[in-house]
Amino acid sequence: MSNKINKNLYAVFGNPIYHSKSPDIHNFFYKLYNLNCNYIAINASKNFFLNEISLFFKNGGKGANITLPFKEKIFPICDIITERAKIAGAINTLKLYNKKFILGDNTDGIGFLSDLLQNNLIKRKNNILIIGAGGASRGIIYPLLKFGCNIFITNRTFEKAKFLMKKFKKFGNIKCIKIKNLKNNKFHLIINATSAEIKNDLPLIPSNIIKKKTICYDMFYGNEDTNFMKFCKKYKSEKVYNGIGMLINQAAHSFFIWNKIFPDIKKTLFFLKNKIK
Ligand code: NDP
Repeated sequence: MSNKINKNLYAVFGNPIYHSKSPDIHNFFYKLYNLNCNYIAINASKNFFLNEISLFFKNGGKGANITLPFKEKIFPICDIITERAKIAGAINTLKLYNKKFILGDNTDGIGFLSDLLQNNLIKRKNNILIIGAGGASRGIIYPLLKFGCNIFITNRTFEKAKFLMKKFKKFGNIKCIKIKNLKNNKFHLIINATSAEIKNDLPLIPSNIIKKKTICYDMFYGNEDTNFMKFCKKYKSEKVYNGIGMLINQAAHSFFIWNKIFPDIKKTLFFLKNKIK
């Protein structure tokens, strides 16, 4: 890594990182608000990422996003960690604080909630089904419980859903449910938080839990409908979404932490949709 890093440099660290849309989104924010900043993607080494990220800050980096597979492993380089990052057990945003401290935060959960609110997809006391018990689920459970929703969590490996239920039950109403027991249950919102799409697959849920008014949200995003989105449309859900709004909102919350400006989501969505066509 070069020692001469621009003072307004921001970056996303991951491995692999070639697929990341974060540089497009953040550089669009800078253009929108006329800020003299640059945001780049850095493929960090799986063994030396802590050193590489520390070096980035020592050389003038102002802030960074952290993505797979480092979100849960970045805690040791942080001097201050926000409550929501501690609860999620993952950090996706770093900020250089008072020129020498590194602050670790997590904007995934709040970004997801913001997207649901902007699209009127959620109300207090709604029954929400989360499918999947990995890092993405871990990040969204706390804000949803805090908002006042009832959460049902299921997972192919049921033990992991049970583990998350136990971890989060002190924050609100959360139950775990086996996939085979989902049949005939009624949910306002069903969230696919599995990574099944990466293998061109989908979680095997009973089709009778999807109704015309059931809101179906796949956290995965891409140019086309995912397998889960196609499945939900096939069973007549009229409200089917992908995770692009979450992606933009988590970026917007990071941008806010760094620049104290909350960027225009609609303009960014328009820009990004045209970009990934
Ligand atoms: P993890 O690897 O941490 O967890 C994967 C989860 O998916 C596990 O619960 C796993 O079940 C389940 N799973 C994987 N394959 C299948 C399958 N074929 N059928 C059923 N369940 C399956 O991944 P993450 O939680 O980090 O990511 C999950 C998804 O969320 C990804 O698609 C990712 O792209 C998306 N995401 C989107 C974001 C956004 O901004 N829009 C932000 C973060 C994530 P098991 O425990 O049984 O293995």
